[in-house]
Amino acid sequence: MGEFLMVHEPGVRVVAFLFVLVAMMIWELAAPRRRLEIPRVIRWTNNLALVVIDTAILRLAFPVLAVGLAGLAAERGWGLFNVIDLPGWLAFVAAILILDLAIYLQHVLFHAVPGLWRLHRMHHADLDFDVTTGLRFHPVEILLSMVIKLAVVGAIGAPAVAVLAFEVILNATSLFNHSNIALPPRVDRVLRLILVTPDMHRVHHSVDPRETNSNYGFSVPWWDRLLGTYVAQPAKGHRGMEIGIDQFRTPRDLWIDRMLVQPLRGPASGHALDPRITTRRDPD
Ligand SMILES: [Zn+2]
Ligand SMILES: [Zn+2]
Repeated sequence: MGEFLMVHEPGVRVVAFLFVLVAMMIWELAAPRRRLEIPRVIRWTNNLALVVIDTAILRLAFPVLAVGLAGLAAERGWGLFNVIDLPGWLAFVAAILILDLAIYLQHVLFHAVPGLWRLHRMHHADLDFDVTTGLRFHPVEILLSMVIKLAVVGAIGAPAVAVLAFEVILNATSLFNHSNIALPPRVDRVLRLILVTPDMHRVHHSVDPRETNSNYGFSVPWWDRLLGTYVAQPAKGHRGMEIGIDQFRTPRDLWIDRMLVQPLRGPASGHALDPRITTRRDPD
């Protein structure tokens, strides 16, 4: 199984990505959670174009990506798991959990440091919340996030197959938990014990900064629960809440040229350490 995955790595990624993307798009059409405010054609075209740009930049910028580095580390004996002798399954599970925790902490960091928030807020500036929102990240954030991932993979000596599994899972869960799909409340309640559901992640896309700065997890909900950043539901309800951030609220801001220069525009207000938001109270 592991060998099959490694040999067919690029194919496994593309098939998993397209399968989940199309499945979620169909599910959104069949059972939408909220009415979308912006015509799909504008958001989908620009959000999908961004994925192409992000992927190309990533391939050009790094001689080796996370799975490649994991293979290299195994050959050369770099990193913790290549030094200590763990059972294969334990190294596999531990590597996935450590990588997921690292992504959670990175997400918190990108909300807390004003300069990093400028990059990450582009993900939050989407004016609707659907499966393509899960693909909307600034290329510089993608590059920084790869540097962090490479550092973690190298330090722990993660097995290559675990890194591949982690990346495929993260990609799939991100598409799933950004989807505009209506899950029955009971299903959501049970599912969110092990997985970040769309209702849980939608809170993170609320325009209210106290909700924006919560629910940082992408795959498992445990880090938010354990570390105190969990908010169960939006104060105004899922249909009443507003999506996005205070800045960049015109449809023109959804175009790819505006998205790419967005980190340079306006103040970095609304980040998690911004003292103005901790005292903000809605009049209602
Ligand atoms: Zn965020
Ligand atoms: Zn998101």
